[in-house]
Parts: sequence; C-alpha cells; structure tokens
Amino acid sequence: MLTIHNALATVIDESSETAGDLFVENGVVMAPDAPTGTGRGTSTGTPAERLDATGCVVTPGLVNAHHHLLQTAFRTLPGTRGVPMATWLPTMAAAYARAGIDPELEHAAARAGLAESLLAGVTTVADHHLNWPGGPGNTDVELTVGIARAAAAAAADLGARLVFVRGSARDDAEQAAASAEAIVDALVPGAVGGVRADGLLQVAVGPAGVHSDSPETFRLLGEVAARHGLRRRTQANEQVDVAIALEKYGRRPIDLLEEWGWIAPDVTLAHLCAVTEDEIRRLAANGVTATHAPACDLPMGWGIAPVSALRASGIAVGLGTSGGGSNDASNLLADARLAMQIAPLVGEPITAREVLGMATKGSALGLGRPELGSLRLGDAADLCVWDVSGVADAAVADPVAGLLWANPGRKPRHVVVAGRVVVRDYELVGCDQRTIAADLENLLADRHAR
Ligand SMILES: [Zn+2]
Repeated sequence: MLTIHNALATVIDESSETAGDLFVENGVVMAPDAPTGTGRGTSTGTPAERLDATGCVVTPGLVNAHHHLLQTAFRTLPGTRGVPMATWLPTMAAAYARAGIDPELEHAAARAGLAESLLAGVTTVADHHLNWPGGPGNTDVELTVGIARAAAAAAADLGARLVFVRGSARDDAEQAAASAEAIVDALVPGAVGGVRADGLLQVAVGPAGVHSDSPETFRLLGEVAARHGLRRRTQANEQVDVAIALEKYGRRPIDLLEEWGWIAPDVTLAHLCAVTEDEIRRLAANGVTATHAPACDLPMGWGIAPVSALRASGIAVGLGTSGGGSNDASNLLADARLAMQIAPLVGEPITAREVLGMATKGSALGLGRPELGSLRLGDAADLCVWDVSGVADAAVADPVAGLLWANPGRKPRHVVVAGRVVVRDYELVGCDQRTIAADLENLLADRHAR
C-alpha cells in the first residue's frame, strides 16, 4: 500500500476536495479521506510505502490530450515562429527529412517529451503522431509499427501512460488504415476500446484535419476505429483549417466532419478556435469532446477557443500542449494557467478549479477514460504532490487556486502513475533526465553530421 501522507488539500475532482491521507493499492485509489477530513482505509499487509505530502496539495495526474511527441526533437526551430502555416509546414518537413524519422528518433524524442511531461505532473500523454518515415503515403507499414512500438517503449520505461494516436497528414488513405490495423495488432491486441488491460497503453486514430486529409482517410481510419472500438481524434477550426476548407470545399470544417461521420461521441476535436455558436450547439448535441491548446493556438496566430461557451454548452473540454513545433514545453499546468488567463478575452472567465478539471477529467473523458483525471474511490492512482510551502506560494489564501495563479512553471515534488512512484523529490525514479536529454541531442548531432 502507498500512503500519500498529510496533504494540506487533496483535489478529488473539480467539485470536491479533502485533506489528510490518501491510500493507494493495486494501482487504484483505495479510500480517499472522507470530506470531513477523517482518514480511513485498511492495510492489507503489503509492504507499505509513504510519500510525505506535508505542506503540499495533491491533485489527480494531469492528462495531456494533445501532444506531438516527435516534435520534441524540433523545438525553437528557426523559421517556425511567427510564420504562417504555409511556411511552418515545409520548414518542419525539411527538418524531419534532415534528421530522418525512424523508430530510433521517435524513441529518443518521445522519451524526452514523456520525461519532461512526468516531471511537470503529466501522467497521461496522447501522442498524435502525424509524420512517418518516407513522408506521406510512402511508408512501409512495419516501419509505422516500429514508430508506435518506440513510443510505447519510451512510456513503459518511464512509467507514463501513453495514448498513441495513429495520425495522418496527407497519407494515402489505405496505407494509413493498414498501418492503424497493424499498430492495434502490435500494441493492444484484443484490447477492449483500444485500451490495454493494465490501462497504461491505448491506441486511437486521428487524421490531422480536413485541411490535410481526404474524406477517404477519415472514412477508412473511422472504419478501423469502429472495428476495434478506438477513439477518434482530429484537429478542427484552427483559422487556417477554416480557410482551407472554404477554399477547397466551399464548406466549413464542422460541416465536412459531420458529412464524413466524424461528429460523434467518440470524437475529440483539438483547437476549435474559430467556431460559431451554431457549430458549438451541434457539437454539444452530438456528444463531441474538445481539446483546448492555447499555448499552440496563440503563437500560431489561430485565435482563442471560446472555452466558456464550449463548457456551458455541455461539451467536455480537455487541455493539450500540442507539440514542440509550436509549443516548446510539455508543461500542461503552465498552459492551464494560460487558458485561465486568456479566457476572459473571448467569454466568461474560467476558475482555477475549472481549468484544473479540464487538464485532468476533461482530457480523460475525451480519451474515453473515466477512471483517469480524478481521485475517487476506485479511480486510477495517478496523482501529483505539489509543494506549496515555498515563498512563491507564501500568503496564498487558497492553495488549490494558487496552483494555477501563483508560481508559474511549478513542478510537482512527487508523481505517481498507477500507484507507482515515478517522480520523487523532483527527479525521475530509475532514469536520469540529463542522460535522456543528452541521448536525444547526441542522436540529432549524429544525424545532422551525416
Ligand atoms: Zn496539434
């Protein structure tokens, strides 16, 4: 049994908190404190482990609903900042070609991005993988499986939860579907809903958007999803997406997605910056979930998603960082703070607890994972212990709200995934973050010297 001892406050979910001890066994929350703050729970005689949470706030582990882990190898790339999408895409493509996308690079990049994520309190990452060896539609299916295996291996080694999203960016539709099938077979054979029995690995599918992928790709990846019960994820209504859809089809992206069968409860749409009231109403009526990615949308100039309006319509809104090509950090709490700060520019403000709920439960619901993102009895024991005893949190009246408002860039002292301590006293357990960084940098240096 693992005991998280003596927390100042424990956030169970968006609307309930407790204090004191939290008990974990077999990877799940055993018996959180009653709302009165009285500890309970029984020891079953397994070796006891204790994490001290004195002066700390405990939250559910953060869930990053939208990342592109490969881009961790391409951060602050010259020519990718302050440029239009039409410049950004070929600049990134040239960098991918120069480095050479393969399982080795994916492993090193995913390992760095996932390590960074865990150290920032992110226990689950959805890796929307869009770029494949050989370029669009020119990839050997086995190599795509190798990429997926590399990401999964990096997550397993670090103890992170991974959702590998078989993405597509102008891929040949049939090849993308064959690859998605092969990745399901390799990573989560026979798994219900594409989630492995231990819950640490999940597979989903996701064309990049109507701006890049054909109706055929949406249809065939949708068929793979239907066969295996996978979640479907795509990006929609970045301003550029709307512009291209209008130019190419004379229609808006939501209209196209609806026609193509992609406005449904198993679909999560990332970005949703330029979205109308009528579109919000239709998304809500059809049970679509959303991912807000402000630290990508702002620098890319795509606008600000109307998060309050989306939430008010009943849409579950999660939070994502997007990848290193647009957002150079995998620090979801920092982006939650940004989301909270910019919300009043496009609607009603959102509170710290609401945005923390988005970064946990909101993201988890979009992934079809109700056991993640909260610390109720029986939930997955993914949690962060945030030390709020330092000067950056001094005289903060509300330590839970302070997690967001105060101390930007804060990192958790301890992180637990499925009941296993993966970060202790700000360092990875069993891995050295400096080695992980050096491995990625050395690999890139070797590739660029070729
Ligand atoms: Zn993205």
